[in-house]
Amino acid sequence: RLYNEVQDLKGNIRVYCRIRPFLPGQSKKQTAIEYIGENGELVVSNPSKQGKDTHRLFKFNKVFSPAATQEEVFLDTQPLIRSVLDGYNVCIFAYGQTGSGKTYTMSGPNLSSKEDWGVNYRALNDLFQISQSRRSSIVYDVGVQMVEIYNEQVRDLLVVDSSQRRYPFFESFEFHFLFSSILVRNWLYSICFILIISYFRFFITTQPNGLAVPEASMHSVNSTADVLELMSIGLMNRAVGATALNERSSRSHSILTVHVRGMDLKTKAVLRGSLHLVDLAGSERVDRSEATGDRLKEAQHINKSLSALGDVIFALAQKNAHIPYRNSKLTQVLQSSLGGQAKTLMFVQLNPDVDSYAETVSTLKFAERVS
Ligand code: ADP
Ligand code: MG
Repeated sequence: RLYNEVQDLKGNIRVYCRIRPFLPGQSKKQTAIEYIGENGELVVSNPSKQGKDTHRLFKFNKVFSPAATQEEVFLDTQPLIRSVLDGYNVCIFAYGQTGSGKTYTMSGPNLSSKEDWGVNYRALNDLFQISQSRRSSIVYDVGVQMVEIYNEQVRDLLVVDSSQRRYPFFESFEFHFLFSSILVRNWLYSICFILIISYFRFFITTQPNGLAVPEASMHSVNSTADVLELMSIGLMNRAVGATALNERSSRSHSILTVHVRGMDLKTKAVLRGSLHLVDLAGSERVDRSEATGDRLKEAQHINKSLSALGDVIFALAQKNAHIPYRNSKLTQVLQSSLGGQAKTLMFVQLNPDVDSYAETVSTLKFAERVS
């Protein structure tokens, strides 16, 4: 075990909180962040409300103040990331309301400056570089997948025209029905045929260590430049269809998966690990009276999947026998990497602004439940 330095406090789940700074140009507002402790304590308060019970204390494995750099955040995450090389499955999430810095933490604000790189570039780069250093008798392959989950539908982000690749016709229900009715000319047999195919597809689609999405293309990483190129394709595809006011990325989950396969040259033993880096959809509550149509549907899907994720992590932390993976696409896709020997890290992102106080408290309550 080269990199297994991670001491687990409670099972394999840890929670870091990160507070973003006030943005330049933003008129200086009051902050809801009252105190940040050395050992992961955080006190928030609402200065515009008088009276008691306005201060709330939360406890995390670590709290990053607004001054924390991308490098500092990564260094605290690195041992966990490197445990992938020992064959672990690791999931890293960013949770928080839109504008709280999820994408900043995971991807960074831009690619041009290395200092700004978020966890996913640094992680991929780090894993790739270690896999290339021939200091052990193990050779590694690194592969990458990137998908988006929007309205419970999975979309591959690493294909040039992602709109055409969503679900290949040959894997669709309609195809099987057509095919089987031509083949057997009897609807009862057709239904049996479809059931058999679905049964096998279920096994094909739930491979150990991988995304449960075989349709998503896998790309091998052979250089640091590959890392950047793949990520920019992913980001570009994610932005498709988004307008300034109607930014889709805040209402979809994006999952970057890094697969590492190591083979010991002497013993020929093979070790597989995977790292999932998840930029979740914004956790803000949508006012039910205002949202209608598509907006309401999106909000319901987001709500459902975030609470399903919370339920799964909570059940894992409690060491429950039954883990409710099947309640959302997000938890289904990540099933093989949540639980068991897998390690989970949640970045809880906060907007320091007092106007966000209600959302901040709701974010912190979510975190409190899973930590
Ligand atoms: P989210 O993905 O949660 O909607 P973003 O990551 O897009 O939020 O962040 C919102 C804005 O705040 C962006 O302009 C981003 O560059 C900025 N920002 C977020 N976190 C930080 C940080 N730690 N330091 C500096 N700017 C930040
Ligand atoms: Mg974002």
